[in-house]
Parts: sequence; structure tokens; C-alpha cells
Amino acid sequence: MTAGLKLAAATRRSALKEAVVLMKAAGLDTPVLDARLIVQHALGISWDTLYLKEDQALTNDERTRLEGELARRAAYEPVSRIVGRRHFWTLDLAVSPDTLDPRGDTETLIEAVVTAIPDRGRALRVLDLGTGTGAILLALLAEYPTATGLGVDLSDGAIATARINADGHGLSGRASFARGNWAEGLSGVFDLIVSNPPYIVQSDLVGLSPEVREHDPMLALDGGGDGLDAYRALMPAIPALLTEDGMLVVEVGAGQADDVCRLAAYSGLEQIARRADLGGIERALSFKRAGAL
Ligand code: GLN
Repeated sequence: MTAGLKLAAATRRSALKEAVVLMKAAGLDTPVLDARLIVQHALGISWDTLYLKEDQALTNDERTRLEGELARRAAYEPVSRIVGRRHFWTLDLAVSPDTLDPRGDTETLIEAVVTAIPDRGRALRVLDLGTGTGAILLALLAEYPTATGLGVDLSDGAIATARINADGHGLSGRASFARGNWAEGLSGVFDLIVSNPPYIVQSDLVGLSPEVREHDPMLALDGGGDGLDAYRALMPAIPALLTEDGMLVVEVGAGQADDVCRLAAYSGLEQIARRADLGGIERALSFKRAGAL
């Protein structure tokens, strides 16, 4: 149904209505929102403009763009990939094929940090391992106006996107980015280390929704045979990179919290908090060096 999708609509208003019908027919969870975001993007207009000038006729270019974008959504490409942006915490971020699409669940890590460190004046040194779009690091730098940070990623494409996002939010003076494999080769110490590593069990990858499976980079999803490979790789390096009272906050998948705590304990880290996401799933685990104050 998606190839050669054609709109009959003559005006913006009728195009929006038709888009909603098409998105419903595709069986999407949020057809009205998706239709609205795609119409705004394809027409390059804000929601108010769409309403104020709803009788305006679609130009041929607008129609072609809108048909193309609706067809992509009907084929389960996420709206964020079609419009190239995703909102995360307080930031509007660019996404690219090399970056995981930032999830609302990951905001749980930001909540964990701001709860544990209420003093926004702290000049925290932050390290984000597997930074992707830079979402976690940049959201934290926005919360702590004198903090500085380093985002590491294995993907050059992700680093390029993270730099664009740092620039876009006036944070490039406080954020640097480097290509690397977790903490390999890093020196120095950090007050805060954060990571949302890949944690999907390899055999579960085929069962993911097409939005995720076909559009998020495998590098950002594949956690190996038991989903825990990334934690095994990164945990041992953490204690040496943390200040005496430094904190590690990692995201985990559903049901992984206990296993990840065990792995962290092997590396000399002690759990200080667990925080659930809005769906009630334990999502953000916080640690300090064992024996630290
Ligand atoms: N939270 C993502 C998902 O469930 C996975 C991201 C990750 O592996 N870190 O699709």
C-alpha cells in the first residue's frame, strides 16, 4: 500500500485528514500525532500556521514530499528518522542513521543524576560511553551550566551527529567527542560516568518492532548472547576513571538490573540507587566505587 502512495487532498486541511486516515490504516499506535508531525515537516510549517492557513492549496512539491514521507511512515520508519529530529529531556536533537533514536526511557538516567546531585553549580566532569546523538551528555551539560564532558562512540557518524547537536545547543565549548571502544585508552578521572549501552539479547533482535530493528543501528542494540556484553566490557575500567566520590549511571533493559549489579560488583562498584522508568521498569542503575564515602 505504500509504494506510489497518492493523496487526493487539495488543501492543507484535507491533506492532514487524509494523512490521519492513511496512518490509521497502517496500524500505527499514534496515527494522529504521526500524521500531524509529518504534515508539518513536509510542508515546512508550524502547527499554528497549518491551522491559520488550512485552506491553502498544496503545491506540487508539498504534495510529492508529503506522499513520500507518509509512505515511509506507513512502512514503519519512525517519525524521528523521517523528520531527522527527536526531543530528549529539554533538547531537540538531530538523529542520523548512525545513532540510536533517543528514547523517553533514557531520560530516567537524567532524573537519576539530578536527584543524586542537586547542586546545579557543580563543575562536573562527565563521561558518556556510547554517546550516539550525545543525548545524555548534552542534557546533563544543559542541567549543570559549568559542567564539561566527553562523549565517546565507536561510530564516526554518531560523533558527527553529536557534534552537530552540541553546536546546535551552544554546548560545544563544554563538550568534546572522541572515537573509542568504551573506555579503552581513556585517562583522567570523571565525577560522573553515564552510558546507555546496547543491551538487547541477540536472539531477541529479530522480534523487535520494524521501527527499531530496521532503523536503529545494530551497534547500538546488540548486547550479545545474554545482552550483557557491553557491561562486561565497560565495567572493569570504571573504578579507575571515577573520582573518589564519583558516580556511574547506566541504563539497563527489562530484567537486567540484578545481573548488571553483579557485574558491577565484580569490578569493584557498589550500587547506590535504582530508578524505574515511567513504565515501571528498573532502567537506571547508579554506582559508586566500593568502599568510597
Ligand atoms: N531501549 C532500546 C530498546 O528497547 C534499546 C537500546 C539499548 O540497547 N541500549 O529498543
